[in-house]
Order: sequence, then structure tokens, then C-alpha cells
Amino acid sequence: MRASKFLITTKKEIPSDAEVISHQLMLRAGMIRKLTSGLYTWLPIGLRVLRKVEAIIREEMDRSGAQEVLMPITQPAEIWKKSGRWKEYGPELLRIKDRHDRSFCLGPTHEEVITDLVGHEIQSYKQLPVTFYQIQTKFRDERRPRFGVMRSREFLMKDAYSFHASEESLRHTYELMHQTYTNIFKRIGLDFRSVIADTGSIGGNHSHEFHVLAASGEDAIAFSTKSDFAANIETTKAVNLEKKTSNNRQQLQKIEISHQHSTVGTNKLPDTDKVQTIKIIIVLAEPDIILSNDDQAISINPLAALILRDDHELNTVKSQKISGIKSPLTLASQEIIKKQFGCDISFLGPVGLNIPVIADHAASQLIDFTCGANKDGFYLTGVNWERDCPDVRVEDIRNAVQGDPSPDGRGVLDIKRGIEVGHIFQLGAKYSKTMNATVLNEEGKEQTMFMGCYGIGVSRIVAAAIEQNNDASGIVWPDALAPFQIALIPINMQKSEQVKIVCEKIHSELVGLGFDVLFMDQDKSRLGVMLSTVELIGLPHCIVVGERSLEQGVVEYRNRRYSENQNISLTDLNQFLLQNIKR
Ligand code: ATP
Ligand code: MG
Repeated sequence: MRASKFLITTKKEIPSDAEVISHQLMLRAGMIRKLTSGLYTWLPIGLRVLRKVEAIIREEMDRSGAQEVLMPITQPAEIWKKSGRWKEYGPELLRIKDRHDRSFCLGPTHEEVITDLVGHEIQSYKQLPVTFYQIQTKFRDERRPRFGVMRSREFLMKDAYSFHASEESLRHTYELMHQTYTNIFKRIGLDFRSVIADTGSIGGNHSHEFHVLAASGEDAIAFSTKSDFAANIETTKAVNLEKKTSNNRQQLQKIEISHQHSTVGTNKLPDTDKVQTIKIIIVLAEPDIILSNDDQAISINPLAALILRDDHELNTVKSQKISGIKSPLTLASQEIIKKQFGCDISFLGPVGLNIPVIADHAASQLIDFTCGANKDGFYLTGVNWERDCPDVRVEDIRNAVQGDPSPDGRGVLDIKRGIEVGHIFQLGAKYSKTMNATVLNEEGKEQTMFMGCYGIGVSRIVAAAIEQNNDASGIVWPDALAPFQIALIPINMQKSEQVKIVCEKIHSELVGLGFDVLFMDQDKSRLGVMLSTVELIGLPHCIVVGERSLEQGVVEYRNRRYSENQNISLTDLNQFLLQNIKR
């Protein structure tokens, strides 16, 4: 490709609205441009990378025996009503109407469409197992689109769905997909881990996420220091800490906060030892209470109090699975709290609170602790559960933290940040049952199929790869993803016929060998400018051709990752590149 005929729009300045390095570099290297919040155009150089990721995924999915299909982005409401998700799916689902006033949505995922299809097309257990996949645009009206294509509203996903006559067959394909994903992420050149993930309402250890480790990752991953245990923090069990014992309990004391103590902010209790203080979170509980008010039924959610040690964080995923707690977890508003308890949330405490109180294991083991007194300006010290709040229920509702014992009993936990690039899931009969996807089994009887689903964030991978491969000068592409593997840079081509002839020859030979080459053929471009451009866009191999080196029969080779430059004789160049570029 000739740079003179290819759109390169690089920027020197760091864009002010880009927080993470991958977003900054994708904008600076001219890979993407924002249309509006969460919607991006892929420019030619960015699209070349996206297509490379896609090609690797396609090759490995085909190798696994999966068959490619392409489903519509626009999906009729009927199939979502059938699966029950028209109601369940929140505002991430963009619902639209056509000219006949019929309801549709833009597909955030395709379980409904594929289950409908397979239910109609597959009749016999003999046609199973079968896996279909597509690489297609998804739309999710994300609450907080951010980090460029890492969390956008429109993005490219590879989604696959497998269908089975038995759970054993599902487990087999799940393992095959786990291996296929491992092959894909290895080929892409990512530093990644597979971790146990949350299974939502389905339960069991039937889901794994694949995470690229990077400081900017939105997820926290817990690793054991002594075993191969690795799990998303969302689902990591916070192991019971050792209980302190003491026979001498303090007396319960109600203390008015002094003016020196009062601070502005949420925690208005005196800033005591966080490990000896608890915090309280008021959430909506279930079932709803139905009140009848002048012919009109009003449904009201009762409340529940979640209690944590002040230094711990609430785990939303674990909390919303507790029976009696509304899912998705919903915090009670300030107004509701004030109305029901007559004080500010910062002065609430579990003692004498007339709603269910659920404490985390660590909080439940405190003795002589401090909390709010359910009256503005007052707090309690010397609080003890057995004496002062005996009806407390104890559950696992906090995030595990660095140094906690590993749930498998081996070692302690280390916490790292991860970017989720893939997710595999044993769905069982969740969709096939509600959508009636059956086959005839060996006895000729109708049987519901078992399903698995397997997603990869194709566009997110591009950003994640940049998070792991960059330096002060820009992106450092691994060979497998580079938009061009080789940059060909002439020095003063407009003045030297010899440089021009040699460059044209190198260019056509390398293209003939199947390399992607960017020939920086613009007249009058200065060497320094061309070098910084190819460094910013991250091309891994660079050949500089100048009159002086040609006199010695050599060209200069620069590797983007390793700084030392070397001279390569013209006659050895093709062989050298064939040996040094991974394809
Ligand atoms: P997340 O927790 O990041 O929102 P998810 O659990 O909603 O992800 P899945 O439904 O499993 O994601 O989708 C499969 C893959 O699609 C994810 O592993 C991720 O790589 C990618 N993905 C999901 N949402 C987005 C998004 N808004 N932008 C870009 N990629 C996304
Ligand atoms: Mg999501």
C-alpha cells in the first residue's frame, strides 16, 4: 500500500476526552473517530487491525468445527417475549418500532434468534451436537460508554451458540471452546487468563471469562498465590476471617457527635478505626407489598439493610442473589431512608432497626464496634451483635480483598485488573425450554436441547491489545495484528532516482511474498516525520532506504519493539524478513 493513496491522519496532541492509553492512541494513530457517544467509525488503518483479529477468530472457530452464519441486527419483540427477556433486559436493550407500529430491538446478543432458528431447522438428535457462530455488530445502550471501543454502544462481537442432546455433550463442546479461545488469544499475542465467572440466575461453575491483564481493566480478578484458582471478584467467595474473642464486652454507649468531629461527606461518624466501624447500605427487598389506595393498587418494595465493615466493599453480584433481596440490586433513595427512619443514612445503624439486617461474615465477627444510632448527630460505641442486634442474618456480600484466604484453601488472594475479552457459558435449557427448541431423541420422543453460548469482543480486543503493547512513541503491534507488518521508508526519494528504483523493487517483491507493506512514498516527507508516524501507528518492522547505505549495498532495518537498528544487505532482505516476521 502506498501512503500517498492511503488515509493516514495522525495527531500529536493527546485528545482531552480519552482517559486510557488505548483510546488516546487509537485516536492519535487515526484508527477510529467518534461519531457520538459510544459510536465510532473505523478508519482504514484501524479497520485493517479489526479485520486481522476477525480473521484469526474465524480460522480458529472454523477449525473447531463451528459453522458461520449471519443473523439480523434488528430482532422482532415476539422472540424476546417468548424467552422472557423483553421484560427482564434493562435499558441496555434499544427498543424501536417499525412503520406498522410493531416492536423490535437492536440485538445486544442473539440467543433468541439462534434458538428460534435451530428449533425450526434441527429435528433429530442425530444432527447434534452443532455449533453456529457469527461475527456481527451488536448494539447495547450502555449506561456509561467509555474508553473508546472498549465499552462502546455499537461493537463487533463474535458470538457462538452450541446445541446438544445431553449435558455431557454440552460440557464437551464447552471444553473445546475453552481450548479454541485459548488458541485465539495466544495467536493474537495477548497476556490473558481464563477465570471463573458469574453465572447470573443459572448458577453452578459453568462459566469462564477470558481477561487481558491491564491496569485500566474494569474488572477485578482474584488469583491465588499458591494454586491456579482465578475468578472474577464478582463471584469470588470472601472466606470467613478468624473471629476475635473477648469475654469482656464494652457497654453500649450513645454519643452525640461533637462539632470537631462533624465532617462534610457521607461518613459523618467520627473517623475511628475503619476495621472497628460498620457501614450500612439500604436496598430494596422482595416480595413487593401491595397496598390498595382508593381503588389503585400500589406496589411497594420493603427494605433491607446490608452491613459491611467500613474498610470493605459491597459485592453487588453476590448480594442480589440472596433470597429476599431485589435483583438487580437497587439502593433505596435518600428520601425513602429519611422518611422511613427519620435520619440521614450516615447515622443509620443496625441496632433497633425494624427491617431485616444482613451482615457480611467479617462484619458479623466484630465485637465492641461503632455504628450510627438511627438519630441524626448520634452514634453508638461498644456494639455487640449477640446482645444488641441478635436477629442479624449472616451472608457473603463483600468483595474479597488482597490477602484474603483463597476459597480453594490454598494460598491467599492477589487482586489484579482485567479487561474481559471473552466469555463462555453453559446455558443448559434456559432458552431452549422457554422457546420450545426440541429434537426427537433415540426413542422418537421430543426432548429439549441443551445450549452453550460463547462470546468474544472483537473490537474490544483491538483496544486491549494496545493497552498491553505501547510505549512513549505510540503503539507497538504484535506481528499478528499490525495493520502493516512492514514500513518502507525512502530518504529523499524525490532527489534520488536510485532510492526510488530500489524502493519500488523492494515494495513489489515484499507484496509478492504476501507481506502487508506501507510504502511511505509521499514526496518531500522528512525522514523524522515518517519515522515518528510509523512509530505512532505501531508498525513492527521498518526498512529505511537511503543513497548512502545503498552505496554499501545495504538498507537499515529497525524493529519497533527492540531499539537497535541493523544494516541488512539488499540480497538478504527478503530472507531476513521471512525469518523474522510471524505470520
Ligand atoms: P461486560 O461485563 O464488559 O459488560 P458482558 O458480560 O456484558 O461484558 P457478554 O454479554 O459476555 O459481555 O459479551 C461478550 C463479549 O463482548 C464480552 O466478553 C466483551 O469482550 C464484549 N463486550 C461486551 N460489551 C461490550 C461493549 N459495550 N463494548 C465492547 N465490547 C463489549
Ligand atoms: Mg455488559
